[in-house]
Amino acid sequence: MATLGNKRSTSEIIQKYQFDFRKKFGQNFLIDNSILDKIIESAQITREDCILEIGPGIGTMTQRLAEEAGEVVAVEIDKNLIPILDETLADYDNVTILNEDILKVDINRIVAEHGGKPIKVVANLPYYITTPIIMALFENHVPLQSVTIMVQKEVADRMRVGPGTKDYGALSLAVQYYAKPEIITRVPASCFMPRPNVDSTVIKLTRYEKPPVQADDEEWLFAVIRASFNQRRKTLANGLANAGNLAVGRQQVEETLVEMGLPVAVRGEALTLEQFTELSNRILAKRA
Ligand code: SAM
Repeated sequence: MATLGNKRSTSEIIQKYQFDFRKKFGQNFLIDNSILDKIIESAQITREDCILEIGPGIGTMTQRLAEEAGEVVAVEIDKNLIPILDETLADYDNVTILNEDILKVDINRIVAEHGGKPIKVVANLPYYITTPIIMALFENHVPLQSVTIMVQKEVADRMRVGPGTKDYGALSLAVQYYAKPEIITRVPASCFMPRPNVDSTVIKLTRYEKPPVQADDEEWLFAVIRASFNQRRKTLANGLANAGNLAVGRQQVEETLVEMGLPVAVRGEALTLEQFTELSNRILAKRA
């Protein structure tokens, strides 16, 4: 039975192993069972599911995942947590712990080695890797059904906003191209040990079976999007022209914007996902 998820049992484990929290790994452990309940419920886990947990910590959420899922693969970077996980997960025979950096492992290979079916990712993410890991999961086409994650409140907001807001950017567009974002719950800093400086949000990203828009070349679309937001204060045409990796001219971008009925001086932050997709498709076709 799950034993963690509260302040007392977490403190006991930390003391028993003389564990030193490492800030550089974003180690803020969840100590609130009601938040765990919400994460588990919203992830809609069944015995058919293989779950990838990123950063199990002392195994608080891993215990709960193991009780619901068919299989759990948990990737933890900190070797000092491995003996702790060996103890807290000793009762579960459906958990595999990998002592690896999630940014360096081949997640597609992990999925293939564990049945190959689309996985569900569930994690209380270390904040410093939130954007790279989400981009990597989607852009590398990891077979997945959903991603239910705890992230910094501002980052969750960035994932779901549309054009014209200051938070709108490459992360919003990447998430919304591949998935439907849904806020599950806000989480105050008091739910963690040690207490972080910011509040958090649990957000669920459900992968579209059929995306609402389709780029002719996704890699190109995201190269265009990144270049558009790299220089926020410049016009979109200048931003793209200045990006060395794209090799497009300002005039070509401006002509394409006019064809689409957009002002030549428009900025990236004003374009919807549909407009970015159309723009990148049109420029690509002209280069062919
Ligand atoms: N899941 C636990 C919980 O909810 O209490 C711990 C969450 S804590 C916010 C983040 C965890 O991710 C830590 O255990 C940390 O060591 C681990 N971590 C940090 N960077 C990582 C990386 N690059 N790859 C794998 N795990 C990482």
